Amino acid sequence: MAGALLLAGSPAWGQLRIVTTVGMVRAIAEEVAGPEAEVTGLMGSGVDPHLYKPTRGDVVALSQADVILYNGLHLEGRMVEIFARMERRDTPVLAVAEAALEEAGEAPLPGDDPHVWMDVSLWSHAVAAVAEFLAEVDEENAAGYAERAAEYRRRLTSLHAYGEEVTGSIPAGRRVLITAHDAFSYFGEAYGVEVRGIQGLSTESEAGVRDVERLLDSIVRRGIPAIFVEDSVSDKNVRALVEGARARGHDLRIGGTLYSDAMGPEGSYTGTYIGMLDHNLTTISRALGGSPPAGGFQGQHGKEN
Ligand SMILES: [Zn+2]
Repeated sequence: MAGALLLAGSPAWGQLRIVTTVGMVRAIAEEVAGPEAEVTGLMGSGVDPHLYKPTRGDVVALSQADVILYNGLHLEGRMVEIFARMERRDTPVLAVAEAALEEAGEAPLPGDDPHVWMDVSLWSHAVAAVAEFLAEVDEENAAGYAERAAEYRRRLTSLHAYGEEVTGSIPAGRRVLITAHDAFSYFGEAYGVEVRGIQGLSTESEAGVRDVERLLDSIVRRGIPAIFVEDSVSDKNVRALVEGARARGHDLRIGGTLYSDAMGPEGSYTGTYIGMLDHNLTTISRALGGSPPAGGFQGQHGKEN
């Protein structure tokens, strides 16, 4: 660790250099580490982690890191090898979603579903896991990590309660969430919504024509009012479903764009984990006929773009 701190462009003396993958993991690192670390996120807004290949710059950043935090459960499918290489070099590496499930005493959803951040209460366990991990690496600042983690977890507890309340306002027959790929199963479990993805768990798999037909049948039969586009995934399949439903005389709308595997633009409200989940919870609840407050969780929803 000491060697890495002396390199050019290095963080302030004594600061930990943490490298993360997706924004949802970066957000935890920033909240928990506070001034104790310089946090670098490799995957920005709109980036699909399933398909992401590390750049040469990423490899340099990872090899200079004091700590590496990634989601795991094969979310970053094309980076598994480099994380293993860094671990062999004794860089502390944590798969945050896997640690969260362990901390919560839960197994991953079928298919080793990696989208754990969609359940705010589970993601709060990720915060605890990161704080413990950083405390092991950097004992001197353990108290600060624990304190900031507890504060962040309190905010996530209120966000989770908000989520339960607004999704609870969706009428019973309309509690179906259809999105571009299978990113919302943890969301569905946590907030009592049936979830269908057009593509599978990874955007690497293609949707079959027969699956799409079957989904279309069920949308028309059940009178589902809206389906959703995802920010980091092509909307091709979603638009095809809307056209298919309309051709059968069912007025299906696009209920909004959800943030599934990446947060919104850096510096904006949806560029934070809380803003991302507030956006999803509020948008979904409203489009399916629920009655969330116009400003969302804390009055900031809808002002972002
Ligand atoms: Zn995904």
